[in-house]
Amino acid sequence: LSENTLIAKGQAEHSIVTTCAYCGVGCSFRAEMKGEEVVRMVPDKDGQANHGHSCVKGRFAIGYATHPDRITKPMIRARTSDPWREVSWEEAIAYAASEFKRIQSRYGKGAIGGITSSRCSNEETYLVQKLVRAGFGNNNVDTCARVCHSPTGYGLRQTLGESAGTQNFDSVLQADVIMVIGANPTDGHPVFASLMKRRLREGAQLIVADPRRIDLVRSPHIEAAHHLKLKPGTNVALVNSLAHVIVTEGLVNEAFVRERCEQPAFEKWRKFVADARHAPEAMEAVTGVPAAELRAAARLYATGGNAAIYYGLGVTEHSQGSTMVMGIANLAMATGNIGREGVGVNPLRGQNNVQGSCDMGSFPHEFPGYRHVADEATRTQFEKAWGVSLLAEPGLRIPNMFESALDGDFKGLYIEGEDIAQSDPNTQHVTAALNAMECVVVQDLFLNESAKFAHVFLPGSSFLEKDGTFTNAERRIARVRRVMKPKAGYADWEITQLLANAMGYAMNYRHPSEIMDEIAALTPTFQGVSYARLDEMGSIQWPCNEQQPQGTPTMHVGEFVRGKGRFMITEYVPTHEKVNTRYPLILTTGRILSQYNVGAQTRRTENVAWHHEDRLEIHPSDAEARGIVENDWVGIASRAGETVLRAHLTDRVQPGVVYTTFHFPESGANVITTDNSDWATNCPEYKVTAVQVTRVSQP
Ligand code: SF4
Repeated sequence: LSENTLIAKGQAEHSIVTTCAYCGVGCSFRAEMKGEEVVRMVPDKDGQANHGHSCVKGRFAIGYATHPDRITKPMIRARTSDPWREVSWEEAIAYAASEFKRIQSRYGKGAIGGITSSRCSNEETYLVQKLVRAGFGNNNVDTCARVCHSPTGYGLRQTLGESAGTQNFDSVLQADVIMVIGANPTDGHPVFASLMKRRLREGAQLIVADPRRIDLVRSPHIEAAHHLKLKPGTNVALVNSLAHVIVTEGLVNEAFVRERCEQPAFEKWRKFVADARHAPEAMEAVTGVPAAELRAAARLYATGGNAAIYYGLGVTEHSQGSTMVMGIANLAMATGNIGREGVGVNPLRGQNNVQGSCDMGSFPHEFPGYRHVADEATRTQFEKAWGVSLLAEPGLRIPNMFESALDGDFKGLYIEGEDIAQSDPNTQHVTAALNAMECVVVQDLFLNESAKFAHVFLPGSSFLEKDGTFTNAERRIARVRRVMKPKAGYADWEITQLLANAMGYAMNYRHPSEIMDEIAALTPTFQGVSYARLDEMGSIQWPCNEQQPQGTPTMHVGEFVRGKGRFMITEYVPTHEKVNTRYPLILTTGRILSQYNVGAQTRRTENVAWHHEDRLEIHPSDAEARGIVENDWVGIASRAGETVLRAHLTDRVQPGVVYTTFHFPESGANVITTDNSDWATNCPEYKVTAVQVTRVSQP
């Protein structure tokens, strides 16, 4: 039903345009309101990311915002074994601040830190990193993007010069070849997947590189030209083989490379990938991909016209995540598939504001706009604006915080909007670290798993209860608008501000628009962004500044952000996670359309909760060898832990590989994932875990 129909029927009185708080597509919606109640979410036909489309999550899964599980009173307790005690906001904030100050005076300034989330708005994330840097006096701030797309930031910066995707979504309509690597758009990014499928039905050719047969490989009127069914953990071997074919068969776009890229780096790379050890035939036993198929895919990518790469966590969440991102950028540069519509390197971001949380300086080594804390000019700029001295040394990343806590050095943590006890790998390690801290402050909608280890609980606000902005996977900054009052009294940015003031660092923002004005004043890529301009333009794709006053749909046109594109050597290093007799199968993970991450929101919305459990997909041959039949309970043991799931027999997965989703943490996908992580960014290797699977009786 359209907005007007609903309003005419008297079900809604007015509507407010806002942005979906689920995936990185960032669909625009009209929240249809009756008083303070949301009657319905209607996809906005003027939405520049979604053009009136939406998926089931954005449209129906808002029930969590009013779910009875919402906590609406601040709570404190001296020990985690004590019961929670409801207190006033004043008491809760004063207690958190006094504990943090006590810890700092006893153990030093670096003994506390903060973690923000890709669920938070840009303004909230900006404030958390400002609180840590200016209020706590250290750089111990990190974001949950650490565990998903941190390799994207690193890899694209090294090669192209900017830590972001190169295209807008509509660009896919100009693509002749679409290569999807380690992503499952129909489940993870459904509205963008529809756009991609439209182009595929129009005749664009599809290459999928994925260990599992995702829906896109074969769907109505779509058949992938090539499905490169690689073994989990061999991405870099695969990308080097693709590059080998391009270089040795004379498929390099020499004119593009000569004009646009650093020559010495290119020549070094050309020699590297031309080596016979990268030939598809030499790598076939490693990747499991037939050499002829890989050669054909490389030829299609290099010669099929406009070729665009879309990738997801199947690229980043590996011990060589950053290497693979650079390998993808190398392919695009070598074939000239970058810097115009229909091509490019496009990370599909899982959460609503992964891009924004990275842009806003929530990494321990970077200020907003990806500028290193060691850069004196940048530091001086922020010191002047914030009125404090700032440290030039990077702070602790999330895994380093855990290690430091277990060593007895890191004692206090402020967590906004992220359930690290469920989302991070090797749960036992994470919970031991949280247990070792003296003050954990959790700011969230629900008493999540992390709150079990907390001493202060600050009830946060849902996206319907606050103003702000999210930045989607195409760098599009869009407004989030408050449609109802915060249930616990404060929006998240206000809570952070209260904590900063109690810590002795003054913040006096009256509205998130003032925070955005400060971001724009301090961040070159955001210079032209303001709430007034967002209201006028609908949304803005950064960079938006004097050079690009209307924003930037396509990056690297004419010149790379770093000047010349830089090819990087991408040596394949096998993962530490080896199969052996004890752990003979490789487990990999992914998403399903109706659920979202650990299910905190979708599982609290009845009408989308039709998918009730995570199941283990296992190939019939592996199942038969273990006496497992459909729906049997199976035990899954890894070097980190063990869990139990129900089995689903399917040839979507190849023999030797098992797969599960991670939406039901009680079944514990992260109990069995290990501490292995990306060499450059510490992004966990969620996608490769050696496991044993056995039939068990019902748990
Ligand atoms: Fe929300 Fe993503 Fe679905 Fe759009 S595609 S409605 S942004 S979950």
